[in-house]
Amino acid sequence: MRKKLAILGATGSVGTSTLDLIERNPERFEVVAVTAATNVEALADIARRTHARLAVVADDRPLGDLQDLLVGSDCRAAAGAAALLEAATGEAELVIAAIVGCAGLEPVMAAVDAGRTVALANKEALVTAGALMTEAAARSGATLLPIDSEHNAIFQCIACSERSDVAKIILTASGGPFRTASLDEMRRATPEQAVAHPNWSMGAKISVDSATMMNKGLELIEAHHLFGLPSQQIEIVIHPQSVVHSLVEFVDGSVLAQLGSPDMRIPIAYALAWPERMTTPAQRLDLLSIGSLDFEPADMERFPALRLSREALEAGGSAPTVLNAANEAAVAKFLCGGISFTDISALVERALGENDSAAPRSIADVLEIDRLTRSRVESAMQAA
Ligand code: NAD
Ligand code: MG
Repeated sequence: MRKKLAILGATGSVGTSTLDLIERNPERFEVVAVTAATNVEALADIARRTHARLAVVADDRPLGDLQDLLVGSDCRAAAGAAALLEAATGEAELVIAAIVGCAGLEPVMAAVDAGRTVALANKEALVTAGALMTEAAARSGATLLPIDSEHNAIFQCIACSERSDVAKIILTASGGPFRTASLDEMRRATPEQAVAHPNWSMGAKISVDSATMMNKGLELIEAHHLFGLPSQQIEIVIHPQSVVHSLVEFVDGSVLAQLGSPDMRIPIAYALAWPERMTTPAQRLDLLSIGSLDFEPADMERFPALRLSREALEAGGSAPTVLNAANEAAVAKFLCGGISFTDISALVERALGENDSAAPRSIADVLEIDRLTRSRVESAMQAA
């Protein structure tokens, strides 16, 4: 029996890596639904290659083009929010959540509510909705399998352990393209410099997040929700080679780590094949050619996003939702040249300072806090 998959965000970086693995293992997987934001040419091509039965574009406007591109195939074209929910719940047993940002929240929640197994790359959905999502998973019996390499590493390391045996987890961070840059250089950084990650090839938004280190801040909050550990039991260490993907320290002093070359196909394959394993074409780790592995502390002065995310996690309530929304709005503006690189974290800090929203009690509350925060950040950017 082939595993039935839906790929949300099929045209992106994680989506493309997922498709590469699926196309190498056609006997194991059957793609039932694929989605994208607006790129109907790429989506139609994926739908034809995978023989998906449903292709969904988030935006209504290009639906006619998608229909034209799918004429003669067995794939139905659809558009809009309700169709995205259908893709996330329909026939799929395993949902690959690879939409970027809070835009992925509702489809991910629909898959969780429907008790599906969700391979989660879309960390913003978990950061912004937090306990609402993990509680929904506990209610429905949904399984969350982390694709994010750090969380996938931790998931592998604690697979056979009791949570009470974990002393702490250590998230590794490459430090991004500005690991050794001065604050002055960071103020002048261009979008091209910010998205040029030294070790990983990823979408634009997560690449900027890696440069500000907000990515590691979001991952701190993601780890808290996935593994049920408080802020004090989650450490962040800079590891420039991106070979040790994260570590778990147990109460007896043992430390387990997961290592591998920096290729997202390794954690994606783990989630695809879980609870089994499958082969991947990823480069094998050659310890002798790596020679040594380095670790250093994170610099909170140059990377205020790390401090802000820890504060948001510890404050709880609506703070993580505000942190995420402000960051999404600021990163989008930075990418189109509207603000400077260091403005991103400054805008997030300001949004957290102005936040007066109560803790969200529903996904509708989360979306309202997200909307309000984005509009405040937009006004702050216009006023500047
Ligand atoms: P990407 O920008 O390359 O792709 C994003 C995908 O989401 C595309 O298919 C796009 O069409 C779709 N999308 C964008 N906006 C949408 C909207 N409003 N509605 C519906 N669909 C929309 O991003 P990526 O790098 O593949 O990252 C995807 C997610 O995975 C992010 O949350 C990111 O943090 C996480 N992640 C990525 C990597 C990586 O290596 N790229 C690693 C770890 C985690
Ligand atoms: Mg990561």
